[in-house]
Order: sequence, then structure tokens, then C-alpha cells
Amino acid sequence: MKLVFPGSFDPITKGHLDIALRGAKLAGTVIIAVFDNPAKRTLFTVDERLRLMSEAIAEVSVDTVRFEFDSFNGLLAEYVRKNSVTAIIRGLRSPSDFEAELPYSIHNRNLSGGVDTLYFASDPEYSHISSSIVKEIASHAIGNGFGAEELVSLVPGCVFEALKKKYSKKVEG
Ligand code: ADP
Repeated sequence: MKLVFPGSFDPITKGHLDIALRGAKLAGTVIIAVFDNPAKRTLFTVDERLRLMSEAIAEVSVDTVRFEFDSFNGLLAEYVRKNSVTAIIRGLRSPSDFEAELPYSIHNRNLSGGVDTLYFASDPEYSHISSSIVKEIASHAIGNGFGAEELVSLVPGCVFEALKKKYSKKVEG
């Protein structure tokens, strides 16, 4: 079985990582696929996001061969078809995630010729985490150290270091 976990991952958090690892318990291969959306301004480039993902997986998993890292910029359903994906996986943190996801799962199933989306309920330990909150805390925390401990609990170590670099550059520049 080959699963794809698509998302912005700007940057990858411990919540994302948990979903990817749980997916790998079900499938031989999990492709973590960054959506390269030119319409969306991101903090990290696609290449940076891909590097952080592979480093984050390496931090926690010995079975790194089960993971592949890729990006796509068209319709997810097209990617799924071209790569012979068995199912799409996504995480659900709240009812509002579910509401937003439901129509996509139907469109993706129709467009891909029947590929379903499997949803994982977020671990309560991570259900409050989003990349946008991480960036908001980091943008304030890096300069003065306030909130750094909280940040460490939200993201993999490599992401914490990358956020430090990004925001200290912004402070200097
Ligand atoms: P997108 O812009 O496609 O929603 P994200 O990077 O925000 O991209 O999220 C990718 C996927 O990871 C989505 O399915 C999202 O619900 C899930 N996700 C994000 N944060 C968490 C979390 N803390 N716990 C579980 N799933 C999460």
C-alpha cells in the first residue's frame, strides 16, 4: 500500500509528524508531498520544507526507507493517479477541519478514479498545533527567548533550529 500525505507543511510540526508515522504503520510507503502553491506566500521554500521533513523523520524513525518526499503543483488527484497512490491521508484536529476536508475527499475520489482519503484523529497532545501558530510564536519568541520552551514542544528539533535562523535573519535584516 502506498499512501500520500499532502499539505503545505510550512513548516512541519509534531502534529504532522505524528500523522505521517501513524500512516507508516498501515502502509509500505508514505509519500509526504508538499503542495507547491504559487498563490500562497510561505516562510520556507519548497526545498527547505522537503529538507526539514526528511530531517524530522530521521529524528524519530529508524525506518526512514518507508518515507518518500516530493512536491506537486497541480491537482492532488492528478498526482495520485500518476503515482499509483492507494489512498490519501490527512489529519483532523477539529470539526472545522472535517467540514473543510469533506468536499475535497469527494472531489479527489471522483477525479482520481476512486482513491479514498483516510482521516486520522489528531492525538490530543498535538491537536492545538498548526504551522501558522508556530510561526506566530516563533516570530516573537526568537528575538527575546520568550516562548522558546513552548516552541520546542510543538516542532521537531530541526524545525526549531530552522525557525531560529529564519527569524534571527529577519530581526537583523
Ligand atoms: P494544508 O494547507 O493542506 O491544510 P497543512 O500543512 O496545514 O496543509 O496540513 C496538512 C495536513 O496535516 C492536514 O490534513 C492537516 O489537517 C493536518 N494537520 C496539521 N496540523 C496537525 C496536527 N497538529 N495534528 C494532526 N494533523 C494535523
